[in-house]
Amino acid sequence: MFNLVKGTHDVILDEARKYSYIEVVLERTAELYGYKEFRTPIIETSELFLRSVGDSSDIVRKEMYTFDDKGGRSITLRPEITAGTIRSMVANKLFAMQDYPIKGYYCGPCFRYERPQQGRYRQFNQFGVECAGVIRSERDAEVISMGYNSLMMLGFQNLELKINTLGDEESRNKYKEALKEYFSQYIDTMCEDCKERFKLNILRILDCKVKEDREIIDKAPKITDFLSESAKKDFDTVLTNLDKLGIKYTIDHELVRGLDYYSGVVFEFHYTSSQGKNYGAIGAGGHYNKLIHELGGPEIEGCGYAMGIERLASVMEDDNLFTDIEQFLDVYLMPIGERAINESLSIANVIRMSGYTCDICLENKGMSQMFKKGERRDALYALIIGDNELDSHKFVLKNMMSQEQIEVKENELIDVLDDLFAEDEHDEHCHCGEDHECECENHHDDEHCHCGCHHKE
Ligand code: AMP
Repeated sequence: MFNLVKGTHDVILDEARKYSYIEVVLERTAELYGYKEFRTPIIETSELFLRSVGDSSDIVRKEMYTFDDKGGRSITLRPEITAGTIRSMVANKLFAMQDYPIKGYYCGPCFRYERPQQGRYRQFNQFGVECAGVIRSERDAEVISMGYNSLMMLGFQNLELKINTLGDEESRNKYKEALKEYFSQYIDTMCEDCKERFKLNILRILDCKVKEDREIIDKAPKITDFLSESAKKDFDTVLTNLDKLGIKYTIDHELVRGLDYYSGVVFEFHYTSSQGKNYGAIGAGGHYNKLIHELGGPEIEGCGYAMGIERLASVMEDDNLFTDIEQFLDVYLMPIGERAINESLSIANVIRMSGYTCDICLENKGMSQMFKKGERRDALYALIIGDNELDSHKFVLKNMMSQEQIEVKENELIDVLDDLFAEDEHDEHCHCGEDHECECENHHDDEHCHCGCHHKE
């Protein structure tokens, strides 16, 4: 038996289904806002992350999986996907038309050499969006509201948006100077991380969680006192638009985020369950002004956010937010005897090609064992076929829950399944998070719902 590499985990069976569900809901919501998918390589040149994430960030300094390939090039397993997404926009000349913004979403594995602990892995999955070409702060507000609404679509009802501005460069430089002056009085007494941050990126000191340091940090100068008129106006525009959209927020002047490329608005989505359990941040992002140009693109600004799929899945599991995502088997085909087994692949083929999931018991078992296997596969219906059924072209279809069974003519099987499943689906609830009954007339002919479920609200 081989062990997992430290900090990695298998995502299989029900858990994989939950991950897919989360990804589909996040992707569909991004598509509602006109975003399109970007799938970029997992390996990128190390230089890309030095330039973007920044050499004063913990990620670049301590956490990257970097190696030289056989050609002597320095390669890094991506620790985040913003840099690769922007790089691909540049490489594929998406900026050439100057038709801004370019809107992309991504989803895939990231790698950080972190100390593995509850919810922190060395390989984990991120979903995120990048809006490249932000010229007005309304766009930042739109991006933030998209993140907020995506989480609502997943069922997170009690969200709190924490928001701050890092201002423009002029404001930030003045603020950094003031912080330097303030912290230089105390830095000798502060933790080792703070000492390092003091030298590398003083803003990150505000992130420190050490209790004694917090007392000092709480009295530090606030960014608001250093904002230029235009930085103030931009932040106000974001807040006014969030107000209009009915999104509750808390301004948190200590929110700085760990990636060096942020400037302007930064934000985190925090979640508290209806029972009052505070789960902390479940997604985060911000505005960046130089990243696109730094990576070879035009001098335009952008805004984006990222969410960890592992984190979302564990909070949703803990707070019972996964509803109605069980994976049932529509039909379990139970052939009795050699002749029926020989016919079973063709019969299953017709069922599957009509859109119903179908598994066959090819293990030549007795009836009761076949039923047990069907139950273990969460089958909704058993289709029983023996010599008599083949001769008469009439099969037995049994509802595994109610145990009711009916005789079905072979050439009417799919019509009967269509009728039975239309009735069943009609009673199902929509997955969009709201507790309402589905009211569409006919699921098979109707439009698809955008919320990730397969029927209309
Ligand atoms: P960041 O790119 O650091 O802003 O992180 C964005 C999201 O990715 C966070 O909200 C986390 O949910 C997730 N994330 C970051 N690092 C890890 C990790 N080591 N393991 C699992 N999830 C992570």
